[in-house]
Amino acid sequence: MKNLLPLLIFPLVFALAFVSCQEGAGDASEDNNARSVSQVIHELADLPYAHDALEPHIDEKTMMIHHGRHHQAYVNNLNNAIAGTPLADMDLIDIFAEMSQHSMAVRNNGGGHYNHDLFWNIMSPDGGGEPEGDLAEAISSTFGSFEDFQAEFKRMGMTQFGSGWAWLIVDADGNLKVTQTPNQDNPLMDVVEERGTPILGVDVWEHGYYLHYQNRRGDYIDAFWNVVDWNAVSELYAAALSS
Ligand code: MN
Repeated sequence: MKNLLPLLIFPLVFALAFVSCQEGAGDASEDNNARSVSQVIHELADLPYAHDALEPHIDEKTMMIHHGRHHQAYVNNLNNAIAGTPLADMDLIDIFAEMSQHSMAVRNNGGGHYNHDLFWNIMSPDGGGEPEGDLAEAISSTFGSFEDFQAEFKRMGMTQFGSGWAWLIVDADGNLKVTQTPNQDNPLMDVVEERGTPILGVDVWEHGYYLHYQNRRGDYIDAFWNVVDWNAVSELYAAALSS
């Protein structure tokens, strides 16, 4: 009987580990719609830097919760929403182009996944300063100066009522514009007024800044400029113009 004990214990340990994994995934859900992911279609990429790398401008705890919980929940809920449907085989950008034909679950979570991927990648611990080259010239000729652009972008972030995003986009004619969208909408979706390709965005959901800045959204946007990776934004600008 003594020799049988490991045979009984090992399956039990594995079963408990499995259950605990499933519960962990459920914790990340924002809307209590915590079904387990039935099919991995979209995946959460690692941050391109450490969670504390954007300190003191964006704090480590906010980054851990924002990426590991909120973004993960968008990914899980998106996968659940599209599993077994034709959308599972489509790029998000193609889904956004016909967004009005799809469910709010796909709109909110598809937008949530795409927007956060962009957000993580246009920030860097080596960011800040001003853009150079073609993007710098386009910003000056469009908005008057870099400072005028910053003021207009901040105004978009400040006047977005409730949750949403402020964007710098390239429209269909190749012109720069600053816009805002509610919730997890983005300028690629056919449901928004001002459409274009986003090359810079700031998340003005309270989950993006409340731990460190509380209600001071303006201070958060001011600090955001210190971590903007203008090289990444310039690459997105060039890609948007050539597409
Ligand atoms: Mn967010």
